[in-house]
Amino acid sequence: MTSQLATVSYIGATILFILSLGGLSNQETSLRGNLYGMVGMTLAVLATVLGPQVTAAGLPWILAAMLLGASVGLYAARTVQMTQMPELVALMHSMVGLAAMLVGFSTYIDPEAVKDFTGAAKSIHEMEIYIGILIGAVTFSGSVIAFGKLSGRITGNPVLLPARHWLNLAGLLVVLYFGREFLNAESLSAGMTPLVVMTVIALLFGIHMVMAIGGADMPVVVSMLNSYSGWAAAATGFMLSNDLLIVVGALVGSSGAILSYIMCRAMARSFISVIAGGFGTASAAPKPAGGAAQPAGEVVPVNALETAELLRDAKSVIIVPGYGMAVAQAQHTVNEITQYLRGKGVNVRFGIHPVAGRMPGHMNVLLAEAKVPYDIVFEMDELNDDFPSTDVAMVIGANDIVNPGAQDDPTSPIAGMPVLEVWKAKTSIVMKRSMASGYAGVDNPLFYKENNRMLFGDAKKMLDEVLTVLKA
Ligand code: NDP
Repeated sequence: MTSQLATVSYIGATILFILSLGGLSNQETSLRGNLYGMVGMTLAVLATVLGPQVTAAGLPWILAAMLLGASVGLYAARTVQMTQMPELVALMHSMVGLAAMLVGFSTYIDPEAVKDFTGAAKSIHEMEIYIGILIGAVTFSGSVIAFGKLSGRITGNPVLLPARHWLNLAGLLVVLYFGREFLNAESLSAGMTPLVVMTVIALLFGIHMVMAIGGADMPVVVSMLNSYSGWAAAATGFMLSNDLLIVVGALVGSSGAILSYIMCRAMARSFISVIAGGFGTASAAPKPAGGAAQPAGEVVPVNALETAELLRDAKSVIIVPGYGMAVAQAQHTVNEITQYLRGKGVNVRFGIHPVAGRMPGHMNVLLAEAKVPYDIVFEMDELNDDFPSTDVAMVIGANDIVNPGAQDDPTSPIAGMPVLEVWKAKTSIVMKRSMASGYAGVDNPLFYKENNRMLFGDAKKMLDEVLTVLKA
């Protein structure tokens, strides 16, 4: 493939990626968005592999690596559970970071890669290497820790070192100092020491940054690492002088940054403090995540029959799904109940909290999979005012996102986070297996409210029972 054709293909792929991002911003167009992304990626890979930069001798290596990568990807896609998606995404972000690090080192070591650079161009190229490895290392270690936290292998509580901000500042100064040393290095071996020291500091910083974040703030971390992985890819593009990688990396980086901003707003955290890395600490009391909540009154348990009766008598129902619906894989039964109730003239709508589940858009994906009509799925802001005129608010495996303590208790780790005000409905029904707390590890006063009912059990099992009663 000539270099002109490769450039045209890159431009085509870039346009497809932009269309893909546009498509993914809306449920109705997301399928098309995915398709654009897949075609764009195929075009990009073909143009790169068959492009002028790849020699005949290098081709078998690339094909072998692609085969290996594709096999791992296929295996993961087929075996991973829907509930493990967030940790898989974190793991993938870590791969982007690792790739940026490895490309940085190989570009620095490879005499072929640097032979064209002299004078100022050489300094700029070395700066790209230094910054690329820095971003890659932070993304890599931060994402590995995020993977550990999301999969429950590492504690969800914030782990705070004394004087952590000073430690970060000292790390930054050392990185800047060694950056100068690296740029002034006379030889490859002299430059290697500052590069390795910086990499170790960046790796430690990534670990330190994510370890310090409390469970309730993890959504911000997930989207921020998404953004970092984009910048790591863009840095790789600079190091390899690959325009497509720079553009795509910048697209991912900036869309991730916008997502982080949306997540911050959803959790009432300041974007600036997130950027500065000082989030999820002051208010995140170290309570055991997932531990049992302290009893604070009487709860009123109901069974499937009583739940079905409440639903049957209702004119309007708002369903609030959460992480438990994903665990139970209850979305299909939820859809069947929705269809049944709508068939009887009940106004059924869904209220989606921006941080429901364990990754951005988690609930939307599940509801789309179950073919719940898009026009009855609403964002939290769109229907929070409607709860007082709603007969039944049905909470399916959600906890933190419907916690009134976020509004009433200033000492709560989730204080200030906007929540779905289900307790304002005539009756709220919370469906979960026990009195255990959610991801943030906080007690939920909703359970003890007078108009609240608890339907204990696995969400899928209980909803199946409710559906059977409804249809009987
Ligand atoms: P929560 O984690 O607050 O609550 C989920 C509830 O589901 C649990 O209390 C659990 O209770 C219940 N549950 C689990 N399995 C089942 C089952 N099989 N059947 C019925 N219930 C079940 O989830 P929410 O969606 O309410 O809130 C999301 C939380 O996750 C927030 O704290 C958010 O900050 C955090 N988070 C979100 C991310 C994102 O990007 N969206 C990323 C990382 C964290 P029980 O054990 O009693 O059944």
